[in-house]
Amino acid sequence: MERRETSPLREDWDRMLCVVAHPDDMEFGAAAAVARWTGQGKDVVYCMVTSGEAGIDGLPPEDCRAVREAEQVESARLVGVEQVEFLGLPDGVLEYGVPLRRAIAAVVRRHQPEIVVTGNFRDTWGGRNLNQADHVATGRAVVDAVRDAGNRWVFPEQVAEGLQPWGGVREVWAFGSPAAEHAVDTTETFDAGVASLEAHRAYIDGLGWEDWDAREFLEGMARPAGQSLGVTFAAPFEVFLMGWGD
Ligand SMILES: [Zn+2]
Repeated sequence: MERRETSPLREDWDRMLCVVAHPDDMEFGAAAAVARWTGQGKDVVYCMVTSGEAGIDGLPPEDCRAVREAEQVESARLVGVEQVEFLGLPDGVLEYGVPLRRAIAAVVRRHQPEIVVTGNFRDTWGGRNLNQADHVATGRAVVDAVRDAGNRWVFPEQVAEGLQPWGGVREVWAFGSPAAEHAVDTTETFDAGVASLEAHRAYIDGLGWEDWDAREFLEGMARPAGQSLGVTFAAPFEVFLMGWGD
């Protein structure tokens, strides 16, 4: 099989914002990379669009919300992320559209990141497995909201309330994308990424996957990416350039 050449991700930035649909999304592909970056002293903030409250079959959303938020906060802490925000939009039924863009643009304006991370928002994971609707809606809204955030005439009520327009996002990175052509070496921080995923205990137990192992699962993704980068483990990302004329 032909292997695509993988380039290293840039690391000449200080502030990153990660916007994903659900608690656990970051941990299924990006947590070890985040551990590397926080270890370099970079500032990383997590923003969860929903609280994953519809994610455990045996637990009603009103009880599930607090469990999943607590697991996400702990999971973030394990990779050096102290700030986790929850937008509180409804799990499972997110819609791409102006309200979602508005909510995410406000977060971008507040945190003024240089890099924004989101999850794969293509239709599939590369094979026949379809992506999930919330992931697609969130990722599409993220790339648009990054543009919106820089335009003072889009969502001007936010600017009137004191948020400054922010056009400083250079790139959006989507982890788990089948079109990933970049990657970052996670060999040193791979264990932290595993611990971060394992912190979603109630969620993983709720999935009821017999004999599922977090380390084995993450190795299955990190090994081939590492091979294409010439290291043991790596996390692959698709890079979207947010400037004009690139
Ligand atoms: Zn998800």
